[in-house]
Amino acid sequence: MDNLLEVRDLRKFFPIKKGLFSQTVGQVKAVNGVNLDIKRGETLGLVGESGCGKTTVGRSILRLIEPTSGSVKFEGKEVTAMGPSEMRHLRREMQIIFQDPYSSLNPRITVGGMLSEIIKFHKLRKNDEEVQKRVQELLDIVGLRPEYARRYPHEFSGGQRQRIGIARALSVEPKFIVCDEPVSALDVSIQSQVINLLGDLQREFALTYLFIAHDLSVVEHISDRVAVMYLGEIVELADAKDLYANPKHPYTQALLSAVPIPDPRRRRERIVLAGDVPSPANLPSGCYFHPRCPKVMADCKVTHPVLGDDGSGHVTRCLLYPESIPAGSVTMNGAPLKQARA
Ligand code: SF4
Repeated sequence: MDNLLEVRDLRKFFPIKKGLFSQTVGQVKAVNGVNLDIKRGETLGLVGESGCGKTTVGRSILRLIEPTSGSVKFEGKEVTAMGPSEMRHLRREMQIIFQDPYSSLNPRITVGGMLSEIIKFHKLRKNDEEVQKRVQELLDIVGLRPEYARRYPHEFSGGQRQRIGIARALSVEPKFIVCDEPVSALDVSIQSQVINLLGDLQREFALTYLFIAHDLSVVEHISDRVAVMYLGEIVELADAKDLYANPKHPYTQALLSAVPIPDPRRRRERIVLAGDVPSPANLPSGCYFHPRCPKVMADCKVTHPVLGDDGSGHVTRCLLYPESIPAGSVTMNGAPLKQARA
């Protein structure tokens, strides 16, 4: 599979301003050097607690917010360098499904009106009759009845609104969709229906997804690979089966310990993390996870681990693994750190 999307050293810093003259007194490092490849046709799950930067990654890729620096290539073309007309074309190829579709739907326009406006704006059908046919087709694709085209957003349930959000994303026939916590606001019983629908649509229309969630259980069945984020960085990325069976980073292990196992004979010990996620405006020294890590060592407070590959494509950012130790780093006692861990 070739890469549809390549993200390199993506950063998004938000300035902290204070005082009468709004002087910049610091920066919130929401995304701090993220590298990702997303293969054509795959689902990459992106998981982490609230405030870890995952939504900012999704929006920076789409340039809904401008990244501070870094490169985003879609089908080999640099997205961050595109002008308005190229971006308008790209908006058709790359779409987003929001957590709360209601806030992004115009309450005064019917669902049919909203979908036909998009189809006409992008000149995707020749005449009104074809536009209306396409609206009906889109509603059918997402499992909504044709007469719903005449309804307004407030007349739908949460699950139905999310289906409308999906229909809106599909209306421009995209190749890539950022699914930004698409089921977090829904009842558990509805969540699996929406996830199944997204899976079916992916197969039918050869879609590629970046699926953002704060819970590893949500992305387990839909993801081919999963990346875990903490304080603006990827701390682990692996094939989904491998990550769930063999989580290496202590943060992933803690997130996974909160996922219930359906088989009562198998048990997973719950790892409760101490404290809250530190502020991205004031990052900890060394490994950013060290103030909460159950396996913290003295060296973790001074050495920032790199994202290292164990040779199988399973990458981890943790000094417990030699591949994550930066070249030339030494222990607190001055000995080479790599040799000490090997
Ligand atoms: Fe924990 Fe140290 Fe690994 Fe960071 S580097 S995750 S603090 S063991």
